[in-house]
Formats: sequence, structure tokens, C-alpha cells
Amino acid sequence: MTFASEIPLSLGDKSPLALKPLLAAKPQDIYRHRAERLETLAEGSPLADYLKLCRSLVATQLKLAEAQEFGPAPELDMTQPIPLSLQYTDDNHYWLVQLQSLLSEMLPLVPAAVAGVIRELMALTPEQQAAYGNSLRQGHLSDVPAQYSLFLWAALSAYWAHWAPMVISRMDIAAVKQTALCPVCGSHPVASVIREEPREGLRYLHCSLCETQWHYVRAQCTNCDDAKQLSLWAFDDHQANIRIETCDHCHGYTKMLFVAKDPRMEVVADDLASLGLDSQLSDKGYSATTLNPLLLAHES
Ligand SMILES: [Zn+2]
Ligand SMILES: [Zn+2]
Repeated sequence: MTFASEIPLSLGDKSPLALKPLLAAKPQDIYRHRAERLETLAEGSPLADYLKLCRSLVATQLKLAEAQEFGPAPELDMTQPIPLSLQYTDDNHYWLVQLQSLLSEMLPLVPAAVAGVIRELMALTPEQQAAYGNSLRQGHLSDVPAQYSLFLWAALSAYWAHWAPMVISRMDIAAVKQTALCPVCGSHPVASVIREEPREGLRYLHCSLCETQWHYVRAQCTNCDDAKQLSLWAFDDHQANIRIETCDHCHGYTKMLFVAKDPRMEVVADDLASLGLDSQLSDKGYSATTLNPLLLAHES
């Protein structure tokens, strides 16, 4: 293991048209955009109260990102294919400092019932908080009380989104393979975004934890790789810039957001605000293969 800041930068392909397998996040830009979008989507929405709570949470993540108090760089083994996966980073509890800051900031902003949840979570031992965080990262969502998951994930995500860009700049990008889970941290995607840069119609999956986007070819199931039994669904005008790809091999689906057609769209906010599509897909027998961090309070 080596301190990440001592690992040399990788060179990569500098051609402007070269396809980049990984797009590093700029967390402050992402949180600013997401908070704005949640505010817009809350107007007149039946989910308005929940969208506003999520907006406060994302605005608090922005504060953490701006404060830049993330402790020392994590120790990493850059020879591993997923350098920030839990198995190499499970002893790092610096994110718990982020959790306490996030909870203290949120406490005066939320309704009484939510404030009760925040106080309970603040009162847990760091060992219990860390154990819950590790369970979430392993995808064992039901091991964590659902009312805590939204806040735990927000702190974990702010922490790892801070370090991921530095790690990407030191990864051997040429060795990155197309995968269903994030090549940087091993977490599930939120959804696909369709980008027009550097080339038209490229699909990237957006990581639910570290906010990295990674390339994944179109017309191939992002869950099981099958390319034969896919269907593409379009819905009414209101959500015309969201399409859904279903797979009859694994019975999964992923949303695709055409963000270049409407730059106001933001992957986490628009996935959340288009929950109506998920229930239609569920009625047809398909299951989501993705994870929205703002919906964790509703998972079990
Ligand atoms: Zn990731
Ligand atoms: Zn599939």
C-alpha cells in the first residue's frame, strides 16, 4: 500500500476526440447542479417535501466539498482493478468526521420527525456507524435501518467523491474494462447518461458513490452484458429525454438520460423525480439494476 499522493500520475491519451473510459467528477459542480435541479423539480411535484429534504442534503454535501476537510489521502494499492473498493478501503473511518459534520448541519434544516432520526444516528458509536457504512457499500441495504441510510450514504459519498478524481488521475486507464459496477469504487450506477462529447451518443454510467462516470457501449445490458433481448421504451413528452432499456435476459432495466438534449437534467435528481416510470416497469416484471442514493430511505 502507498499513499495515493505519492503515486505518479498516469499519462493517458490526450487526443480531444479519444473516448475516455472514465470521467472524473468535480464534486462541487455536481452538488451545485443537483441542488438546483431538485429545487426546480420540487415545484408542483407530489414529491415536493421529499425533494426539498434531498435538496438540503445535497446543499450540505456541497458545504463539505467546499470545506475540503477530508483528512489525509487514503492509502491505496493501485495494482488492484478497483482501487477504492471496500476490501481495500474498509479500515478508513475518516468519512465518519464527514458524517458528524453533515448531521450537525442538517439538524436545524429538517422537520421534527427527521431531526429525531438524525439525533439517533449521531448518538450511535463510531463502530456502529462504520459497520452500517460498510454494509451499505457491500449492497447489504437491509442490514441498515432504512431511515439512516440516506444520511450515511451522503457522508460516504461526499468523502469518496472527493478522493476519486485523484485516484483516477493515477489509474492505468487503458486497463479499465467495461463493467456493470464502478471501475473506481465498485458501487452500482444510478443510471446511464447519453453524452454528445467527445462523440455523439456515448453512454456513460454514473456512480452512486464516487460520482465517477464510466463508458458502457449502447445496446448492451449494463447488468448482464446481453445484447440480444433488449428493448428501448420511450414515454410521454414530459419525460421524453428519459428512455428505459429493459433486458429480457436478466429482467433488469436502466434509465438513460439524454442530458445533452436538456442540460438542466441531473442524473440523481431526474432519476428520483421520474419514479413513476419505475412503477410502470415494475408492473411489467422488470427490476431496477441501479441504485439512487436519494432513495435509500425507501429501500429495505
Ligand atoms: Zn464509484
Ligand atoms: Zn440483462
